Amino acid sequence: MLKGKTALVTGSTSGIGLGIAKALARQGANIVMNGFGDVAGPKAEIAALGVQVTHHNADMSRPEEIEAMMAFAAAQFGRVDILVNNAGIQHVARIENFSTERWDAVIAINLSSAFHATRLALPAMLAANEGKGWGRIINVASAHGLVGSPEKSAYVAAKHGLVGLTKVTALENATSGVTCNAICPGWVLTPIVQKQLDAKVAAQGITNEAATEQLLREKEPSMQFTTPDELGELAVFFCSAAGNNVRGVAWNMDGGWVAQ
Ligand code: NAD
Repeated sequence: MLKGKTALVTGSTSGIGLGIAKALARQGANIVMNGFGDVAGPKAEIAALGVQVTHHNADMSRPEEIEAMMAFAAAQFGRVDILVNNAGIQHVARIENFSTERWDAVIAINLSSAFHATRLALPAMLAANEGKGWGRIINVASAHGLVGSPEKSAYVAAKHGLVGLTKVTALENATSGVTCNAICPGWVLTPIVQKQLDAKVAAQGITNEAATEQLLREKEPSMQFTTPDELGELAVFFCSAAGNNVRGVAWNMDGGWVAQ
């Protein structure tokens, strides 16, 4: 379905970003990866799906590095057809104890990076398909883009902001073939969440299993994690022809979290 298209997925060396990159690659899209940590392993997993894959290590908190990454993607593949703004970090503390440096980092990586990548991707998307435009911008927000939780001020503000940016991006391009939508996962068992489980284990002296039970029971009626593969299939839907007129939604895949 996506053969000949290029997808750039930020933060795709791990977790949800890697799941989405693999789902898009299964549909034939070439992939520009981004993110830190082990690159070779995830890159090989994507290459094994028979597509071209490359990696750029832009720090998504730095606009000039995002510009270099977008130029790199255009030089490698001509243009970015599918942009998945996924890179994100978390920091947990009450507002009065929240370091200003952590606030700035969470807003930069989880929100401002999506603005920069979007503004740089749009011109080529709008020019595609003989000027009628074709493009898909998918913002990985969170259930925390729709509801709040204590001790996550920067994250909740960034994710609510990302849902707002999604709506404006969708509206500004509503008469073109460029759509923009957000995915709002509940808990997904990736390093970002394992860190929160580890903190519960340390603070309460409980097992990892007990901490997991507690985490799920607090928020998710389904008592199960959403998987990166499931989120990847939602991204594939947004990229499909059936998604042509899906514009500006914030689609939660969260085990019932925000239905309560
Ligand atoms: P993860 O920690 O597994 O992956 C985060 C990715 O972002 C990694 O590839 C990492 O290298 C990259 N990254 C971090 N800082 C970066 C930076 N400055 N520049 C470039 N890349 C950077 O986490 P995940 O759970 O897969 O999270 C992915 C996205 O999904 C995040 O935006 C997160 O907020 C969101 N999300 C996660 C959950 C969850 O339960 N795991 C739930 C809702 C939303």
